[in-house]
Amino acid sequence: MAMSSDRTSTSGISPRSATMVRVEKIPSLTTGINKQTSPVINSGAAPPRPKAVSPTISHGKRANRSGKESNGGRIRIAVRLRARNAEELLNDADFGDYVELMPELRRLRLRKNSWDYETYQFDSILSETASQKRVYEATAKDVVESVLDGYNGMIVAYGQTGSGKTYTLGNLGEQDASERGIMVRALEDILTDISTDKDTVTVSYLQLYMESIRDLLVPESENITIAEDAKTGDISWPRATSAEVKDQKSVIELLQTGETNRFSVNKKLKTDASRSHAILLVTVRKSIQTKAERQQATLNENGSSMQILKGQNAATVRSSKLFIVDLAGSDRADKFGNEGIMLEEAKFVNLSLTALGKCVNAVAENSTHIPFKDSNLSRLLRDSFEASLIITIGPSPQHRAETTKAILFGQKIMKLENGTKLKEEFDYKSLSKKLATDLDKLIAENEKQEKMMTEAQEEMQRKVDEAQLLMMDAEKRLKLALQGMATEMDRLNEEHKATISKLEEECSQLENELKKSRETHDTIKELAIAEKEIQIRSERLRNQKDVKECIERYQHEVTEMTRKFESERLQKEKLQVRLQEIEDGMKKRDKLKSENQEQLSRLAKQMEKESRLREEAEKELVNWKSQVSLLAKEETVKSETEVELLKQELEEHRKQKEMLEKEMKILKQKMLHLSYDHDETRKFLDREPERPWSGKESPMSMNRSSHMRETINGQRATIAKLFEQVGLQKILSLLESDDVDVRIHAVKVVANLAAEEGNQEKIVQAGGLSSLLRLLQNSEDEIFRSVAAGAVANLAMNETNQELIMTQGGIELLARTANEAEDAQTLRMVAGAIANLCGNDKLQWRLSEGGGIRALLGMARTQHGDVLAQIARGIANFAKCESRAAAQGQRNGKSLLIKDGALPWIISNATTDSSQVRRHIELALCHLAQHEVNAKDFVDAGGLWELIRISRECSREDIRSLARRTLTSSPTFQAELRRVQRSP
Ligand code: ADP
Ligand code: MG
Repeated sequence: MAMSSDRTSTSGISPRSATMVRVEKIPSLTTGINKQTSPVINSGAAPPRPKAVSPTISHGKRANRSGKESNGGRIRIAVRLRARNAEELLNDADFGDYVELMPELRRLRLRKNSWDYETYQFDSILSETASQKRVYEATAKDVVESVLDGYNGMIVAYGQTGSGKTYTLGNLGEQDASERGIMVRALEDILTDISTDKDTVTVSYLQLYMESIRDLLVPESENITIAEDAKTGDISWPRATSAEVKDQKSVIELLQTGETNRFSVNKKLKTDASRSHAILLVTVRKSIQTKAERQQATLNENGSSMQILKGQNAATVRSSKLFIVDLAGSDRADKFGNEGIMLEEAKFVNLSLTALGKCVNAVAENSTHIPFKDSNLSRLLRDSFEASLIITIGPSPQHRAETTKAILFGQKIMKLENGTKLKEEFDYKSLSKKLATDLDKLIAENEKQEKMMTEAQEEMQRKVDEAQLLMMDAEKRLKLALQGMATEMDRLNEEHKATISKLEEECSQLENELKKSRETHDTIKELAIAEKEIQIRSERLRNQKDVKECIERYQHEVTEMTRKFESERLQKEKLQVRLQEIEDGMKKRDKLKSENQEQLSRLAKQMEKESRLREEAEKELVNWKSQVSLLAKEETVKSETEVELLKQELEEHRKQKEMLEKEMKILKQKMLHLSYDHDETRKFLDREPERPWSGKESPMSMNRSSHMRETINGQRATIAKLFEQVGLQKILSLLESDDVDVRIHAVKVVANLAAEEGNQEKIVQAGGLSSLLRLLQNSEDEIFRSVAAGAVANLAMNETNQELIMTQGGIELLARTANEAEDAQTLRMVAGAIANLCGNDKLQWRLSEGGGIRALLGMARTQHGDVLAQIARGIANFAKCESRAAAQGQRNGKSLLIKDGALPWIISNATTDSSQVRRHIELALCHLAQHEVNAKDFVDAGGLWELIRISRECSREDIRSLARRTLTSSPTFQAELRRVQRSP
């Protein structure tokens, strides 16, 4: 896993690479975990199976396409807690008591007993509210992306039956799309990424039951075999159906078919799905461009070499596989017999899970041999490159044993040694450092935004100024143009006037001349008449002798007249030409006049256009101005809300920081207290140096340092050995010894044995409980009482023992010790024991009558944090049992807790700073409030306001909603609320 694509490079080895598979160790591994890097060049239609590169190496980390680094040499492991179902909600399984999730720290705490727990680290912790989308993103998205990059990948769900494996992987989300599981989401992502005309996605769906593989798409075909290519080591399953999927619809149809077939096949085999593994195999074949092809493509684009390249378009196909495995229930591996499951089946489930675990460990441990051949499941999964394991756990205390098993399985794979626990200290320092850094970042971001805002405002102002300048400029230019036009008009008018007056002058001249010529015309007419008269006279004179002279005279006169006439005619002709000219001039004047008119109308039009433009410009300016003001307004509002939001966020961070500091203070106090405990134990040890089982083993495993724990583990082994050699009876008889030293060691050994669940019944059967109670009764010594009470508390974890403790008068004894003892250690043990007894439905009356509740409350006098936590736990347990009994109709009286006077203490501690105490008290309050018989006392003591506060502020959603429901359903509470509203 986590292999670099560069097989020879060694430069990428990070300091963490000690856990990674190294190249030198691999050669003996012929079928290693393969990364398929060499694409197959194939010009035919069917792409051949790609050749897997033989055992590959992980040098450094490989970053996938999202840029995230893969987690180097091991499986990514997530734990998902199933949401509670209706029944579990009803019983309000107080899950928090035994598993605690810390998603932000990626840690999980398993409670061993009342005061001891172990913490485990994982890659992600998904709480009951985590959505399917978040689960997909946290566990599967990276694997799917690396499959799309050409590597094989697997996603496996492990957990007990009913813990949500199939929901996580296989939910089809038909009713509610947000519930789609990993299978559907993975196929959707794959289909979105590929190109549907060039690439193919095929799916096979197999079931592995008792080492035989069946095809879930064609259920008649069983005994599918796994074939292995001797050369490449590539795995295939040639007889299984592989269906091509093209779209979301075909994916859903295919998964539905598989689901239906799985059900009917198992019905026929008289088994159920939880006893077999279901494996979805997705094969993605993607055509990719090699370097040569890219060059060809570039050439093609350039238009050259078209001829040469024709027919050479080879397809390059890269193929990768994704395995999604819904494992058989982890509980099926060992619970055979009592649930009617065949021994054979359990053996095979166990075989597959063990083989799978071994392979994973071998890969993580850098082993030269990886036992892939041990089972069909591990053979199938062996060429996975990127892998993710989702451990599903159930929320009910009934799941305790299986949950612990699953968590340890996950831890083994996380490659922490089995049983290695994290040092339990909440890393407030780094958290507060982180918060401080976040705060700084936010402040810097805020500042940056403010800066950006001022810049934007300045920029806007600049633009407004610019626009105004432009407007002014435009206005000026418009004015100038108008002025120019007016002068031009004046000039044209002047010219026009001048032309007209000139023409008029010319006209009058012509008219004069015309008049003159008309006069000349009249003279010519007179001449003609005179000529005729002359002709008549000359005719008359022809016969007259003296006429001759006259004629000559007249002839002369005529010539004279003719000459005159000729000149007159010439004059007339000239005048006619002139007239013509004048007429032409008149015409020209008319033309000029019309031209002038045209020019005038053109100018008018232009003026109109200019004024329209001006109007538009004005309008635009107004528009601009309003836009600018709008924009400015918007920007201010936006930035104001942003600043407001940032401020709120800052305030919240500050509050969180304060809260953390407060908690840190409390933790520090606790640390002080613990070190006090430690010193006490140490002193005690120093008194007893010579005995092999003595001293260092604090009876209640109070010391939490890992060094001490190791010593304790070593000594537990010694004690177990001793237990075997000496025998329980003998050890118990030492409890009655006269020798104080012997007695004290004996009681410590018994207390230690009682801490192991497996011994508790044996100790009680051998009479150990009576002896311990006797010791508690008779001993004055604080150490005796403390250790004996611790042992009784351990025994009180078991339901049968709880009843025995009661019948042997244990509660009276514990109550007496509670009232007498002063030592905080002793009180803590006694409170722990009573708290355990409070969790038993059958013991309620006897606990109250025996003074258990009052004793529990009395111990609050110490004000010691751990004692208070135990008291609160006991009260919550008691309230829970009461409320369950009332819900089932087995009880109808007022709460014994109220009768025993617990309410004032509960209410006064409901807002305590200790989150542990508060959590228990809030739960107790909710339970008490559920029953009308308690309501009046509850209201009188002020519990109603606490309930309202819980319904608003409690950190647990389920308790908040329980409180809300109780508030609305109780008539007494409703009446009280109305009364308060009415009164002024
Ligand atoms: P498994 O496959 O491990 O046996 P299932 O997936 O069948 O368990 O879950 C058991 C029941 O719990 C189913 O009814 C399922 O719908 C429900 N369930 C499981 N996980 C969730 C969850 N996260 N949210 C809501 N219901 C769930
Ligand atoms: Mg299932």
